[in-house]
Amino acid sequence: MGASATALLDDWRTMPAIDHHCHPLRRWPFELSAVELRGAFTEALDAQMAEHHVVNTVAYQDAIRRIAAELRCDATESAVLAQRNAADPAEYAKRLMARSTTGMMLVDNGFATTESFPLSEQEMALGITQREIVRLETLAESLIHDASDPHEWFDAVRAALRVRIARGAVGVKTICAYRASLRLEPVDTDALGVAFGSLRSRAERDQSIRLAGNAICHALVFEAAKECQELGVPLQVHCGFGDPDEDLANASPLGLRPLLIDSAYRGLRIALLHCYPYHREAAYLCSVFSGVHMDLSLTIPFAALEGPRAMREALGLCPTSKLLYASDATRYPEVYLVAATLHREALADALGELVERRVMSRSAAVDAGRQVLAGNARRLYPLPNGPRQ
Ligand SMILES: [Zn+2]
Repeated sequence: MGASATALLDDWRTMPAIDHHCHPLRRWPFELSAVELRGAFTEALDAQMAEHHVVNTVAYQDAIRRIAAELRCDATESAVLAQRNAADPAEYAKRLMARSTTGMMLVDNGFATTESFPLSEQEMALGITQREIVRLETLAESLIHDASDPHEWFDAVRAALRVRIARGAVGVKTICAYRASLRLEPVDTDALGVAFGSLRSRAERDQSIRLAGNAICHALVFEAAKECQELGVPLQVHCGFGDPDEDLANASPLGLRPLLIDSAYRGLRIALLHCYPYHREAAYLCSVFSGVHMDLSLTIPFAALEGPRAMREALGLCPTSKLLYASDATRYPEVYLVAATLHREALADALGELVERRVMSRSAAVDAGRQVLAGNARRLYPLPNGPRQ
């Protein structure tokens, strides 16, 4: 790391970040196994990956080294697990989360299981302000029982979004890329009717339902976008890599074009999540559409040296007022700490290089980092302390 990057890290050292996209922690106490820890550093669903291959990723080896340094133990997985499993879980989590210098967490709760902390408990347990991001598809699935046609259903979804935002949620997230192509198509009312009918009859038979397919998922995204625009909250869109449930070929943010060019959505603010390997496409969208923002989130802890490279590429076109910090961490405090540390380093690396090449002044780089770590999220979301630079 160059001298400018080191100086930048020092400038931001005590500055609390706003993690604009993360998931709930796992409620303690529990004994963490090697496979569970590895599972938090991969998007693989195939158990063989956590069993045999994650340990052979550069990112996991680096994560173990970093966690071990924090715990002052040998840099091995078994030493890390022994140390953390012997610690008082509440104090341990609080200590690691404090070391991540996170001031506020915007949590996608759609991912929660019975093992996860509800947000109010998580806030108490960590001493970090929590705000909810509503997961659109999960909410919509829960409301299909009482609707007799797609219109009624969309009305119910939009009303529920209004209630959730009024109660303190600060944004809406769509996982359309997991359920359909992200290349949005105009609503096909016939196909929508058919898809709704079959979901509705599954729901009536009390079978579990799962929204999927372009007709229904795209129509839902358009409705949610309209509601977000009216409520003045951002729509987060999962794009780029994730678990293999999604087809990465259809997960480029470029497919969101209808939302970006149709004047009906003017003023809508969008936060593109993860983005990699489409982070350059995302940066392009940020450079031409005022409402578009982006993050690199799990690219940073998962992609080893590709993380800082992606950061540098994102900063090519993306204004520094539109890049957001996110850990995308889940379950274990170690993951939040590793993601936060790596993210600050990647940001310092990319901005430090610009300072050293005299492309950017040092004070502009310090300020840009502050924007990315917290200022941009304060402007984008309706947060408790109001908009601040
Ligand atoms: Zn996520």
